[in-house]
Amino acid sequence: MLEVEHLRKIYDGHGRSVEALRDLTFRVGAGELVCLVGPSGCGKTTLLKCVSGLLAPTSGRVVLEGTPVSGAPANMAVVLQEYGRSLFPWMSVAANVELPLKQKKLPAARRREMVARALEAVGLSDAHAAYPWQLSGGMQQRVAIARAIAYEPHILLMDEPFAAVDAQTRAELEDLVRRIWAGFAMTILFVTHDIDEAVYLGQRVVILSSSPTIVQEDLAVDLPAERDQLTTRAQPRFTELRGHVYEQIQKAKATAPPAAGV
Ligand code: ADP
Ligand code: MG
Repeated sequence: MLEVEHLRKIYDGHGRSVEALRDLTFRVGAGELVCLVGPSGCGKTTLLKCVSGLLAPTSGRVVLEGTPVSGAPANMAVVLQEYGRSLFPWMSVAANVELPLKQKKLPAARRREMVARALEAVGLSDAHAAYPWQLSGGMQQRVAIARAIAYEPHILLMDEPFAAVDAQTRAELEDLVRRIWAGFAMTILFVTHDIDEAVYLGQRVVILSSSPTIVQEDLAVDLPAERDQLTTRAQPRFTELRGHVYEQIQKAKATAPPAAGV
C-alpha cells in the first residue's frame, strides 16, 4: 500500500537548515494499522506531509499503491491534531463531513447516505445539524474522523489526533480507531509521541529516533487482535512491549548520529 524509501527532508531557509529526516525506510501493507512513534520534534509531521504530498522530500521517495506521490493523492485522507482548525465553524457537522464528497462529484443522495454512515460509525448520528463550535473537543475530532472515513480513502493518516483531548476521551477515541479500522477495512498510519498509545493501537510500531531521524526499529505487536483498555493494558506482554519501545527511544537518543552536511 505505502512504501517510504530513504526519505530525507532538510528544511532550508533564512540561512539556516534543519535536517528533519535523515533516512527513513518502511512499508505499510494493505489493511494494516501501523503506529509511528517518536519524541516531539523528531519529524513525524514532516514525514506525514511528505507522505501526503504536501511537502517535497529532499531525497528519497514515497510510493502509494505503486505510484510515486507528487501531489495530494486522491485515495488518502488525513486527520490532524488541530481539529479546531480543520472544521469549518459556519458549516453544520453534516456539511463538514459532506464537503470532500462534493469534490468527488458524487450525487446528492449517495453523499447523504455516506455522511449518515460515517456519522453513525463515530457515534454522532444525532449531531448532523449541530455546528462544530457547539461540540466538545473529542466530538469535534469524531467529526474530523467521520469526514475522513466518509471519503472512503484507501489509507488514513492520523497525526497525533488525540493529543489535545482528556485521557478518558482519548481512550474512547483510540477504541473508535480500532473499530473503524476493523469495520471499514482501511489501512491506517497513526502517528503519536505516546508509547502506550502506539502499542495499544498498532499491529506494528515503527520507532523513530530523535533528530537526525532514522527508523530505530520496526516492531511487531504480538498482542491479541481483540483489545480493550482494561485487559490489554493489564497484560504483562503489553508492559514488556511498552518497556521495549521506551528503551529503544532512549537508546536512539544516546547514539544519535551527528547531523551531516547541514
Ligand atoms: P514532530 O511532528 O515529530 O514533532 P516536526 O516534523 O514538526 O516534528 O519537526 C521536525 C523538525 O523540523 C523540528 O526540528 C522542527 O523545528 C523542524 N521544522 C518543522 N517544520 C519546519 C519548517 N517549515 N521550517 C523549518 N524547520 C521546520
Ligand atoms: Mg507533529
